[in-house]
Amino acid sequence: MQESNAPVLIVGGGPCGLMLAIELGRRGVGALLVDEKPSTAFNPQANATQARTMEHFRRLGFADEVRSLGLPAEFPTDIAYFTRFAQHELARFALPSSRDARAKISGLTGSWSAAELPHRVSQKFVEAVLRRQAEKLPGISVQYGWRLVEFEDTGDDVRCEIECVADGSRRSVRCRYLFGADGARSFVRERLGFGYVGETGVIRDFMGGRMYALYVRCPDFYKLVPHAPAWMNVTFNPERRAFMAAVDGQGEFAFHTQLRPHEEAETLTIRDARRMFQAAVGAPIELEILSRGTWTAGHALVADRFQRGCVLLGGDAVHLFTPAGGLGYNTAVEDAVNAGWKLAAVLKGVADPSLLESYEKERRPLAVRNTGFARRFADSLGLFAPAREIEDDTPEGAGARQAAGAYFAAHARTEFNIPGVTFGGRYDGSPIIVPDGTVPPPDAANTYAPTACPGGRAPHLWLADGRSLYDTFGFEWTLLRLRRDSPVAEDLANAARSLGLDLTMVDIDHPDARDLYEADAALIRPDQIVAWRGTARCKALQVVAKASSAGRQTGQRKRPLSMAVPDHQI
Ligand SMILES: Cc1cc2nc3c(=O)[nH]c(=O)nc-3n(C[C@H](O)[C@H](O)[C@H](O)COP(=O)(O)OP(=O)(O)OC[C@H]3O[C@@H](n4cnc5c(N)ncnc54)[C@H](O)[C@@H]3O)c2cc1C
Repeated sequence: MQESNAPVLIVGGGPCGLMLAIELGRRGVGALLVDEKPSTAFNPQANATQARTMEHFRRLGFADEVRSLGLPAEFPTDIAYFTRFAQHELARFALPSSRDARAKISGLTGSWSAAELPHRVSQKFVEAVLRRQAEKLPGISVQYGWRLVEFEDTGDDVRCEIECVADGSRRSVRCRYLFGADGARSFVRERLGFGYVGETGVIRDFMGGRMYALYVRCPDFYKLVPHAPAWMNVTFNPERRAFMAAVDGQGEFAFHTQLRPHEEAETLTIRDARRMFQAAVGAPIELEILSRGTWTAGHALVADRFQRGCVLLGGDAVHLFTPAGGLGYNTAVEDAVNAGWKLAAVLKGVADPSLLESYEKERRPLAVRNTGFARRFADSLGLFAPAREIEDDTPEGAGARQAAGAYFAAHARTEFNIPGVTFGGRYDGSPIIVPDGTVPPPDAANTYAPTACPGGRAPHLWLADGRSLYDTFGFEWTLLRLRRDSPVAEDLANAARSLGLDLTMVDIDHPDARDLYEADAALIRPDQIVAWRGTARCKALQVVAKASSAGRQTGQRKRPLSMAVPDHQI
């Protein structure tokens, strides 16, 4: 059997695996990515790219490319609630189009103090961008049509077997680290014997049970429906509850309805599927069904472990969400961001392998937190059931619609205005965060209080020249010097240099920045998390060594494995 070497074998070419390939490739670390599918997703899948994910895309240089995809630039990204799409509109939460989002963000402060706003775009478009970005990096090989079938962690490396889906031929791959980004039915997780903990099988009137997914083309929708277009369309009636994301603004939709107890997905015909869609529209309308599938709503599950030895896991392989709030793919991307710089630092010999232990310690609590937020959003949406008379042309019907409208107006703000969820995730208690004794603001879904308390996202601000503070950061470590003559900043920079860290010193002469960070200097990690902040001189070498795990190599893993992929064109 032919053998390939790769520093990292990534299993799964969804958002998590592709993002990890980019993070590694951008750092000059080779990786082979295999995915059993023929290519990136055909179905729309996730529909919302949260602001923090967009900030990561900006850091990597392709946020604008992503923002130009999906809906037309002027298409509103509203969330609207109807009895049925062509009948009564109950409530609408207005959100900016992608063109307005670009213009708006530089004027926002407080909870939305950010470099990017969210973007409502189907995952299928994002995956195609991530694939292109990964494929153009030297040392990264992306191979669809191959699946992982075996692996063994020897302690020094991982011996893997991959199989060509088309002809069954096998190759062996020897890698230093195996990363399982292989989704909900993860083979890697299963083989490691990791279980899921949390909640599953929750039944709700909506978003709790068997869901039926249709990817449809219905170009007459916008002619027939008498309401303003929206990105997310939700129906609320006793017969057919559904949510539907606009995919291209031209008539393609990702439609998801909850099956009623008597409906068996396996026996549903195309004609049944059409009827379901038409029932949600509330009018007979022509449509083409591009694909159909089922999935289960009602999970809030997190794996008990994210790593063992030289094998790490991320994305849906270790956390399963009910997609209320749109957090599954975004959490998957952040797993990859977190693992990416750490794997690269270890493989380049800058950091001790123990750095990787911080991956599970940081990401697992975040997965518990985010699945918890999603569960609460799903409860709020799905436990509220429609009154029987909600569609009636009677005073009682009008009253029921008014009550539902008021409910959804409040609910939409809770589920779709979530700066706290997206910016407020923290790594308190991580072994590589240097605490300063301050207490971060409370964790709340709908508000975010910028804070430089170590362990959280670096607070953002727009500079006088119009740049985002983040655009000044280095790709690896950044030392923000907020008072030019700060001796502690000089000490930290010298310590970082002596430990071989790639550090960019950034001087910010802006009184607001000093107030925002409440310190003369802040050490920012490659994933834009504050590792340390301070004003008084400190044991700089210890601070930097703790934050980076540099300079305390234990001598493990002496055998070198080439950083590039020598024979990856399988
Ligand atoms: C209806 C719906 C709506 C959603 N909406 C949102 C949303 O708005 N926002 C959001 O953030 N999330 C949303 N999600 C969730 C989101 O789609 C997932 O969380 C996301 O795809 C996870 O990415 P991943 O890379 O971890 O896994 P996946 O995207 O599942 O990728 C895993 C890949 O691994 C491959 N694979 C599996 N086994 C092997 C093997 N043995 N060898 C090789 N390859 C293998 C698979 O082919 C697959 O391509 C939604 C999900 C659903 C169902």
